[in-house]
Amino acid sequence: MHDVIIIGAGFSGLEAARQLVASHDVLVLEARSRAGGRVLTHTFANGDETDLGGQWVGPGQDRLYALAAAMGFATYPLWDKGRHVVRSGSRLKHYKGTIPALPLPVLLDLNRVLSRFEKMAAELDPAAPWTHPKAERWDRMTVADFMARSSFTRRAREMFAIGIGAVFCAEPHELSLLHALFYARSGRSLDALLSVSGGAQQDRVHGTMGGLASHVAGTLDGKIRYDAPVRSIRWSDTGVEVEAGGEVFTARRAILAIPPSQALGIAFDPPLPGNRDALWRRMPAGACIKCVAQYERPFWRERGLSGQAVGGKLSVRVTFDNTEEGKSAGLLLGFIEGDEARHWSAVRAEERRAAVLEAFAGFFGPEALSPIDYADQDWTSEPWTRGCYAAFMGPGVWTTLGHQLRQPIGPIHVAGTETAVMGYGYIEGALEAGARAADEVKAALA
Ligand SMILES: Cc1cc2nc3c(=O)[nH]c(=O)nc-3n(C[C@H](O)[C@H](O)[C@H](O)COP(=O)(O)OP(=O)(O)OC[C@H]3O[C@@H](n4cnc5c(N)ncnc54)[C@H](O)[C@@H]3O)c2cc1C
Repeated sequence: MHDVIIIGAGFSGLEAARQLVASHDVLVLEARSRAGGRVLTHTFANGDETDLGGQWVGPGQDRLYALAAAMGFATYPLWDKGRHVVRSGSRLKHYKGTIPALPLPVLLDLNRVLSRFEKMAAELDPAAPWTHPKAERWDRMTVADFMARSSFTRRAREMFAIGIGAVFCAEPHELSLLHALFYARSGRSLDALLSVSGGAQQDRVHGTMGGLASHVAGTLDGKIRYDAPVRSIRWSDTGVEVEAGGEVFTARRAILAIPPSQALGIAFDPPLPGNRDALWRRMPAGACIKCVAQYERPFWRERGLSGQAVGGKLSVRVTFDNTEEGKSAGLLLGFIEGDEARHWSAVRAEERRAAVLEAFAGFFGPEALSPIDYADQDWTSEPWTRGCYAAFMGPGVWTTLGHQLRQPIGPIHVAGTETAVMGYGYIEGALEAGARAADEVKAALA
């Protein structure tokens, strides 16, 4: 019998294992044949690599900076020089800084809505957002309701919706306002989540974030069993029997380090408490397709453009210059999010590629139509993830069921970025949650 079985070798499960492996007998069961979960390295035909999952680290994400440094992975800033592009219909405008070039009434309106949102978010306790005096009111509203009440220009609502899509991969009408406020608070502020320099998109990791996850997995001394999807967990006060890949493993404790939708795929015996089942069923993930085109060189830089673009009606509404430091090939990164991702998920790969390149060309000119290579990753189609960046809550969930999010179920502890207080939805949160679950196990077994 092991001391603890950890289910999932994403950053959360890896961190829990790292914290426990020196003092306890640990086994990690991972469904895929690789570690990293929602981080994933892609290798282009010329040997260059890029991240098709999580990749950025920014100020306040101290655990991730520390882990990268401890593993010998240096960071470097995302390219953030030059003018950005904002698109309205077929019109392009260029600007610098974080505020797009918009008509003055729209800018004033947008600024007012953002300030109001930030002020509300700052009031929340990220460990218990349901305790705010207005929590129920905010939890009954969607972000779309908030926008309709707070802004008076259509354009400001459009820009706010693009920002929400970029952060949640979901539509404003799907999200509880309380959840959106919590998420911003958990990530320091909405501005921090949307920003490059000084924000969540500030830095990249040399050797890719996927490379960092594989490296961490390699330090765990053979404790990870791959291709071992957990199908059932029998549990009692004294421990767990976990069935994976046709084998049964026993332990005194378990840590579930998987997204809520994946936890629902496990048969629990005895069954999950009703409210936990209800909570996880009400935590769907956003939808996102991450798309990267590789060019001979970052041609947009020659025109003084940063590679960052926002807006428009095309499949991709947000782009970045994702060129790897030290490489000559230029990489343009675009995200397809929310309803657009649901649409493009069902379209043939070649058609999607053409639509993405057309969107890039719409921002940066016809040269964008001829990359030397291209890759995309539809995270809704991944059976062991089913959506990203993270699970969210619709109206009414936080205030009725949210207090159970981190509570253990008998000998089963819960981790994963969806249980984080700070950095929810991010790798930082995955690390926090893994460390917290490891502490719970240590205390329980002491
Ligand atoms: C496109 C994209 C871009 C993102 N960008 C960023 C970013 O720039 N910065 C950032 O900080 N975050 C980003 N994120 C979010 C970040 O990647 C996640 O928050 C984080 O990786 C989650 O880690 P986790 O360990 O909680 O979950 P996961 O990474 O999902 O790990 C769960 C693991 O459990 C395994 N598993 C699932 N079910 C079972 C089962 N039944 N049995 C056994 N194993 C199972 C899975 O295979 C997986 O390996 C992004 C995510 C995506 C997809």
